[in-house]
Amino acid sequence: MGLSQRLVLFDLDGTLVDSAPGIGASTRVAVAEMGLPEPTPAQLRAMVGPPLQDGFATTFGLCGDDVDRAVLAYRACYAAGAMLDAPPHPGIPELPAQLRAEAATLAVATSKPAEFAVQILAHVGLFGQFAGVHGATLDGAVRHKELVVAAAAALAAHPDGERPVLVGDRAQDVFGALVHGLQCIGAGWGPAPGGELAAAGAAVVVATPAEVPAALAVLR
Ligand SMILES: [Mg+2]
Repeated sequence: MGLSQRLVLFDLDGTLVDSAPGIGASTRVAVAEMGLPEPTPAQLRAMVGPPLQDGFATTFGLCGDDVDRAVLAYRACYAAGAMLDAPPHPGIPELPAQLRAEAATLAVATSKPAEFAVQILAHVGLFGQFAGVHGATLDGAVRHKELVVAAAAALAAHPDGERPVLVGDRAQDVFGALVHGLQCIGAGWGPAPGGELAAAGAAVVVATPAEVPAALAVLR
């Protein structure tokens, strides 16, 4: 069995790494800065995945300039080191080498700024496994479309990649894949509520990274 030249795109946060600790710490700092009460566990969970601006607006009810102030406070904490508090999910460290042994090409497509993604991947020793890391820019110019743009960049960078597929843990990953006509493998080990990925249109949802190779083998 081989995945000859197959291009497999991976979302970062929640899929490759458990970003919740660093995101939670940065969210707490930002929320305190805005004079809001200590976030609940549910509020902290809701900050993993969506664009930051949306998280502060919908989860904490901020609007206008307050969203920008919260994002600045968050990013200061995150860039100062909280971002590296993102261990790989169990089973992830073994997965890239396994897929590459079957001749798949791997790339990262994330709604996170690419420079942050590179630092996180390097920190956990996975950076060298990926042929490219594609993300957003820090200015937020393509907000709401970050993953769509990152996936487009990944596809353009690997024109020889066949039957590209995206592995992602939230509904917006599935939507970002579908915009490009890609099938999405739902990372059921991530933080999405049960049923979210299937409802969004994931071709298949797997429970562990170890199930990804078999899922790839049966997708067109
Ligand atoms: Mg994610």
